[in-house]
Amino acid sequence: MPSVFIKTYGCQMNERDSEAVAAQLVAKGYTLAPSEAVADVILLNTCSVRDFAEQKAIGKMQNIAADVRKHHPEVVLGFMGCMAQSRGQELIDRLPDVDLVLGTQKFHHAANYLDEILAGRRDKIVDVAAEQGSEATIREHLLNGNAQKSVTAFVSIMQGCNQYCTFCIVPYTRGEERSRSIPDIVAECRQLVSQGVKEITLLGQIVTSYGKRGFGRAELPLGQDAQQRVPTTKKTSFVQLLDAVHEIDGLERIRFTAPHPKGYGDDLIQAYARLPQLVESAHLPVQSGSDRVLKLMHRGYTRERFLGIVRKLRRAKPDIGITTDIIVGFPGETEDDFEQTLSLAREVQFDNAYIFKYSQRRDTPAAEMPGQVPLKIREERNHRLLETINEIGKRKYDAFVGQRTQILVEGPSKKNPARLAGRTRCNKIVVFDGSERHRGQLLDVKITRAGSFTLYGDPAIVNL
Ligand code: SF4
Repeated sequence: MPSVFIKTYGCQMNERDSEAVAAQLVAKGYTLAPSEAVADVILLNTCSVRDFAEQKAIGKMQNIAADVRKHHPEVVLGFMGCMAQSRGQELIDRLPDVDLVLGTQKFHHAANYLDEILAGRRDKIVDVAAEQGSEATIREHLLNGNAQKSVTAFVSIMQGCNQYCTFCIVPYTRGEERSRSIPDIVAECRQLVSQGVKEITLLGQIVTSYGKRGFGRAELPLGQDAQQRVPTTKKTSFVQLLDAVHEIDGLERIRFTAPHPKGYGDDLIQAYARLPQLVESAHLPVQSGSDRVLKLMHRGYTRERFLGIVRKLRRAKPDIGITTDIIVGFPGETEDDFEQTLSLAREVQFDNAYIFKYSQRRDTPAAEMPGQVPLKIREERNHRLLETINEIGKRKYDAFVGQRTQILVEGPSKKNPARLAGRTRCNKIVVFDGSERHRGQLLDVKITRAGSFTLYGDPAIVNL
């Protein structure tokens, strides 16, 4: 059977999509190639969030076409994911070596399309049409094909986004919000737990909008609120999903990403307080600290509303780790707007932040806005904000030294495979000396040292 190599660009959603496609192909008898040089099929799962990511994938495909095809003329080349969706046929027109272009609602057709191309029944295939029900097709996992025990897993709960932030291409590449049903998601989670998974991250472009289009705000069965001590009569579909996943025996931890601050209602904040398996970690993408810029971005909340959510979260869970995404140099962002972002970062004391220099995306409203900020200023603001975030992060990480904390051991450290790595409930990586049998265990370790966004645990505390 043919072998496949998939290279993934971009976010966790893309990682998850690639895993599901790989699992689908393995189930059909394909093997996973260790490198592109020896693969019969090479797929690039692409990202469109920044122009740089698109250019990187196009450049990569040009190199593969020039190098790999020379030695292996029969190799099948394909693009999938966001750039495949937004550019479609244009990719084959520009790169005639490409055989397959697979849109974001078509991942589940990968095996059939590749079979047809490999068998010579079809030459080129471009499929980027919308497909009803495609949100429920990202469900295969590679756990069985993985020699090592997987401790954590991502579960896709929805696709698409209807928020239309003015800088973002996602609603155009991923389409309208479409949510899977709660029983379907719970069944997948239950299956993963039965295979040894201890921590599940519920995944979607805007998980706090889960079920809004498909399910709306459903009433809870009578009496359930009293049992769960929630002083509201209604919960969002997302909180109902959290409740349902939380019921699964053997599941130790639940995370989710990415939420939208707009969706952080009181029911979700209360969920942190009442669901022990929902860990003390929130990734809250703020994007800017200036109300004027937030409005231009079409974010749907103000600085004060954002700070109010942070205050409530910290009241519910004082040790919660809060991270964020921030864009610097959005069109029209003045020095004063940027100072407000800096002051918000200091006020919130984020544990970490992913900072992005604004990048013009074609067909998005912000690309046409007046006041595009020159690259030099974007770089300078990026640098200043990074210094602030690093300074805060260092203080936060240093504060862990000497503390005892619980980690879930995930496996060998990425930077030093001779050591093990686990994660605290507040989402900080801890590296320590342990042994393979600790994988999948919840362990108490004493933090001895803090590095750059990594903690180090004392092996003496670990029961070896
Ligand atoms: S919420 Fe905004 S930034 Fe997030 S995916 Fe949707 S449009 Fe993009």
